[in-house]
Amino acid sequence: MKRVLILGGTTEASALAAALAEGTRFAALLSFAGATRAPRPPPVPWRVGGFGGVEGLAAFLQDEAIDLLIDATHPFAAHMKRNAAEAAAITRIALLAVRRPEWRPGEGDRWLTVPDMLAAATALGQTPRRVLLTIGQKDLAAFQAAPWHHYVVRSVDAPEEASLPPQAEVIAARGPFRLPDELDLLDRTSVSAIVTKNSGGDATSAKLAAARQRGVEVVMVARPPILPGVETVPDAAGALRWLAAHAGTERGV
Ligand code: NAP
Repeated sequence: MKRVLILGGTTEASALAAALAEGTRFAALLSFAGATRAPRPPPVPWRVGGFGGVEGLAAFLQDEAIDLLIDATHPFAAHMKRNAAEAAAITRIALLAVRRPEWRPGEGDRWLTVPDMLAAATALGQTPRRVLLTIGQKDLAAFQAAPWHHYVVRSVDAPEEASLPPQAEVIAARGPFRLPDELDLLDRTSVSAIVTKNSGGDATSAKLAAARQRGVEVVMVARPPILPGVETVPDAAGALRWLAAHAGTERGV
């Protein structure tokens, strides 16, 4: 059996783990960073926590006799992606990245694309407004630079108090979110802008359709760049095809 390490924290990683749990050709180990306080237990062995940078991951790959590495982390998990590419190169273990397609603006969308969170805070302007932040917990402090806005923060777990801008209310919720819920959220909170990362995928895209319907502006934070030289597929099905093609791959070849 080939041993596969899946770097997870995404729906694609969970779907891949579920598919591999049913087969007999691969023994999967799913890795979570520990960002979500109560991840749903997967149907394959799993571990939680960082590896300790590139060296730590390379040592883990060796110690656990991993044959194949799949980086199915979120498109914005830039550190982990870089570490995976470097550790795979050092250990000469085959690496695949799963990267879901980006969202693209359509007819009727009012998007402003910005390169990072500070640019997003600046793009909200000088006039106080009500803003929905659907960016997770890590980057909330960037909005302390624009404290005149009122923020509605939606996140899976409650964020650290210290990271919040002064006028912030928190809504704890876990996707997937449906369009009627998102329309209701926009109506209840009366926001005039949403800040989001260009995560892509279906689980959280209803907010974009809701924004289009309500004429709400979307400040869209662009993705970190793709790493050159890493083979990439858009979804779990692509990863399964790649695994099938690598079923005979020996470690270090
Ligand atoms: P990041 O900045 O790229 O990673 C920071 C550090 O967390 C990494 O250097 C690594 O620590 C550890 N880490 C990240 N992913 C890991 C994994 N799957 N297994 C073990 N350790 C991991 O990542 P992030 O943006 O904080 O995201 C953390 C996790 O949340 C990722 O697994 C990602 O898939 C998931 N997630 C992220 C977002 C987002 O918007 N960023 C959204 C949804 C889900 P060491 O260097 O010590 O190994």
